[in-house]
Amino acid sequence: MTREPSSARVLVSGATGRMGRRVIEEAAARDDARVVAGVSRDLSGKIDDIPVEPADEFEVVLREYDPDVLVDFSVPEASREFVADCAEANVACVVGTTGFTEDEFAEGGLAALREASERVPVLHASNFSRGVQALLRAVEGAVSDLPGYDVEVTESHHRHKRDAPSGTANAILDRIESVGEFDGRIHGREGDALREPGEIGVHARRAGGIRGEHEILLANEHEELRLTHRAGNRSAFADGALDAAGWLAGRNPGWYDFSEVVAE
Ligand code: NAD
Repeated sequence: MTREPSSARVLVSGATGRMGRRVIEEAAARDDARVVAGVSRDLSGKIDDIPVEPADEFEVVLREYDPDVLVDFSVPEASREFVADCAEANVACVVGTTGFTEDEFAEGGLAALREASERVPVLHASNFSRGVQALLRAVEGAVSDLPGYDVEVTESHHRHKRDAPSGTANAILDRIESVGEFDGRIHGREGDALREPGEIGVHARRAGGIRGEHEILLANEHEELRLTHRAGNRSAFADGALDAAGWLAGRNPGWYDFSEVVAE
């Protein structure tokens, strides 16, 4: 296997957005990743020292800047096209965009990313913070140790977030469902929090500038356990995505998981 170059050449899509900007800022302080350019639909708001090109010229940008890896924080409909172009151009893809539909083969699902992973390495994660990776493991342990307890998942984010429940909440729900001892059903993934006893409730709150909070409550009639993660700022996600970019560049084609990056 060919391994990562010492400093990966990174192209950022969604470069003028909240996450794209933070990725560019964080990369400037690292020596394992160098942002060579950005692309975005919204080109307002200059970014110092980094050329930002229109998203509809993505293929030209790939040829001109010759990146090793794409780091994408945009919207699913754009992300799918960027990744397909990267597969053609042999560029690895780290995708942080959330809001792909639940059924990965439905329109809006992750199928286009999976297809690209047959030609280039692709890593999609709904949450690039290491704390959330630890939370997922803790949730698995708690659900497994507390059979029969009610489980409620609550997530809170800033008012601009487009998808609900969050990609991270969905990853938490997937992890709960994967526990053999858990025999409940999930209710509320589509935003409806009313539920029957024994079902998991999912609650999505959108307010102000909240950066991202996930709480898993497990309770029976005698006790309760709360597992909570709060993102202090977007650097946790940006750093994780750049860790993933350095790790992914130069790997074989395939579908990778952020837990593999964290494990090293
Ligand atoms: P944002 O709205 O601030 O930025 C989105 C960016 O995408 C903007 O630069 C915008 O111009 C660009 N864009 C929008 N439509 C486009 C299109 N059709 N073509 C090209 N570019 C387009 O959003 P944000 O807060 O930066 O979040 C971006 C995504 O990242 C969201 O899906 C969010 O949920 C996700 N996110 C993931 C993580 C993680 O750790 N995986 C963390 C935070 C946010």
